[in-house]
This record gives sequence, C-alpha cells and structure tokens, in this order.
Amino acid sequence: MTSAPSSASQAAVELSAAPDRSEAAERAAQLFEESFGYQPDGVWSAPGRVNIIGEHVDYQDGLCLPMAISHRCFAAAARTPTNRLRLRSAQDETVLDIDARTLAPETVTGWPAYVAGVLWALGSRISGASTRGMDILIDGQVPLGAGLSSSAALECSAAEAIEDLLSLGTEPLERVRAAITAETDFAGASTGGLDQSASVLSREGHALFLDCRDFSTRPVPWDLASQGLALLITDTRAEHSHVDGEYTARRADSERAAQELGVATLRDVDAADVAALESLLAQIPDEVVRRRAHHVITEIQRVRDVDALLAAGAVREHVAELGALLNASHDSLRDDYEVTVPQLDVAVEAARAAGAHGARMTGGGFGGSTIALVEAEQAEQVAAAIAAAFAEHGFDSPVFFLALPSEGAGQDR
Ligand code: ADP
Ligand code: MG
Repeated sequence: MTSAPSSASQAAVELSAAPDRSEAAERAAQLFEESFGYQPDGVWSAPGRVNIIGEHVDYQDGLCLPMAISHRCFAAAARTPTNRLRLRSAQDETVLDIDARTLAPETVTGWPAYVAGVLWALGSRISGASTRGMDILIDGQVPLGAGLSSSAALECSAAEAIEDLLSLGTEPLERVRAAITAETDFAGASTGGLDQSASVLSREGHALFLDCRDFSTRPVPWDLASQGLALLITDTRAEHSHVDGEYTARRADSERAAQELGVATLRDVDAADVAALESLLAQIPDEVVRRRAHHVITEIQRVRDVDALLAAGAVREHVAELGALLNASHDSLRDDYEVTVPQLDVAVEAARAAGAHGARMTGGGFGGSTIALVEAEQAEQVAAAIAAAFAEHGFDSPVFFLALPSEGAGQDR
C-alpha cells in the first residue's frame, strides 16, 4: 500500500501486485480440499493478458503484441473414477455437477461453460474407454470483465489441468484452440483468439508477437523492470454496454472495407506509404467504413513498427518512439474506430499529462482497461493523476495494477 503525493490527489492510490504465485497455488489446493473433502492431484494456472498494441485487427488477419500479466487463474483439480464433471469457483457461487459424456453447447450456463467447454472441445482426444470425471476448484486473481481476459485465464488453466489429468498429449497450440472453441462454440461468447494465445504461449520477460493469419507466434524481449520502466494498468471500471453489437458492427465494417478494396483481408493492404494508402482508401465511398479501414491498416503497421524498434534494441533505447506509437494507437481507436468511452479517454489523457511515455486503451474497448508506459518511479504519481481526473469527472474510482510480462499457462504443483 502506497500513498499518493497530496499535491497530485487527495485520494491514496494502491498499485496492486499479484499475490505470490506459489502461495496462491497453495491457497487453491486448500480451497479444493475444503470444497471436495480430499486433496487435489495438482494445481495448474494461466495468466490474464494486456495487449501492448494491435487492437481490433485479429479478425482481419492482423498482427498483435500481447503479454501475459502477473495475475493468474488457478485450477486445483483431481481425476475421479467416474464421468461426473464437478466445478466450483472461489469467485462465483454457481456450481456444476454434470455427466461429462453429455456435454454439448447450451447444456451449461454461466461461468462453468468456459471450463466444461474446454473438456468438450478436447473430447475427440479422449479415448472412448477412458472415464472423463474430474473435480475442479477455480481461484482467479484476474479481475472479471475488466478487459484483462479473466475468461481466457479460466479456460487455459482448465485446459492445462485437463491435459495432465487425462494425459491427452496435446500441444500448447491445440490447447489454445480448445480454449477458443470453448468460448465461441460452447459458451457462445465472441473472441478472436488473441487472449488464449497470450495466456498459453507467453514467456516471462517477453511480449508475444502474434500473427493472426496463421496463429504463429514468437517471443519479443519486453523486459521493463531491468530498465526502470513499468506498465501501469488502469481498470476504469466503466460499465461495458452494447459490446457484442458494436463488436459485430466493427467486424462487418472492416469486412466491407476489405471487399471494396478487393482484398481478402485488410492485412493485405500496405500501409508503409502513407500517400498511397490515402489514395487507396479514397476508393471506399462510405466515410465511416473508410475510417474503420484506416484504423485496421495503420494499426497493423504500428505493430510492425513496434516490433522493429524492439528488434533494434532495448525498450529504454526507443522509449519515446514506442510511447508515440501507443498514443497513435489510442487516438486511432478513439477517432477512426470509435470504440473508446470517456473513462478510457480520460485515463489516457491524464496519464500522458502526468508524464507517461505513452498510453492507450487495451482490449476490445467500450470500457475495460488502459495501459501506460511509465518510468517505474513515476508509476504512483501517474496513477494518482488518473485517480484525480476520475474524481473530477465523477467517474467510479479506477483500480491500478503493475504488470510484469509473465509466464504462460502451466502446472504449479
Ligand atoms: P474478461 O475476459 O475481460 O475478464 P469476459 O466477459 O470475457 O471478461 O469474461 C468474464 C467471465 O469469465 C465472467 O463473467 C465469468 O463468467 C468468467 N470467469 C472468469 N474468471 C472466473 C472465476 N475466477 N470464477 C468464475 N468465473 C470466472
Ligand atoms: Mg474475456
């Protein structure tokens, strides 16, 4: 717990770090024992994520650069000699007890669908002679619905547990796909796959360069701590509203833009030559669709630019250029793509004014979280400035996190 300087704000700000990973795994094991009356076979976990840059491009075969955060979802689990799937969560009272052989879309509602969906998605991997019964206790640290992907952390922790309990022999990418299938086809939510890739495939100290065209990935050095830098996450706690409808509309606009430009996806458009891009975009008659295309095409280019800067040296060496790219990404999401809300814009403006190198919304928008690239020693000051701006606007108090690029999904004990 730390206090803000009184000059910046009357309110104290707390920058919450994730609880220690092994202690959290121990706690999940204890909660399992309290729930089910015996000790689990193991504990597995998977992290939430922030996207550093590359927003609203995944469904246009784009490029993105997420990283896993320190906050994780833990799954304590045990195999049982039955076919019952029993689920509990420390964050939600809803429980599930179902014959795992009968799982099908729409048979499960609420949060358990994200976990049951993973078992269902991995079904073809399970031999017919094998029982599918298991008990799973979920204990998550990723705030729910804050745009930090608690849903992927939940699915991917379950996927690790199921893989090991049933000895399925799946590759990490297969578990990514099972988690995506669970969310889209079983739980009926929409996801582009960025979240699950980041949650499973991220490496400590690195961001994950993700090519959404073929889901290929590679780690990119993103070690902020050793360079005196930090990534401040602000959960704006703005209510998400109309998200699904707006998401569908943006997808439709970008598909229409691709069609009018005569390309399969907007990934195929070259944005390196700005003048050429402007005259190409002039072919799109509708002004709104033109702006949507401008966002997607320039955002993919910004990911290339960030990737090139990180390949050329440490974050510290190019911190001003990296910050400018983060800023340009936010401005494009605000003006061209129109997926920000006042809380996101205010958090970003306040962070910039308080000395952040760059700041932007992260995730799908319409609420959720922002990130700010800051000097580590100024993180508290920037958070205090954001808190003060929120108070001034009469917004709910934001919640702050400091995120280190963390390791993807795996077994804890
Ligand atoms: P986000 O992924 O950004 O946090 P989503 O709406 O995609 O937001 O996912 C949030 C949903 O995931 C919750 O409403 C809940 O159903 C489920 N969820 C995530 N973590 C947990 C948890 N620890 N316990 C129960 N449900 C969870
Ligand atoms: Mg989610």
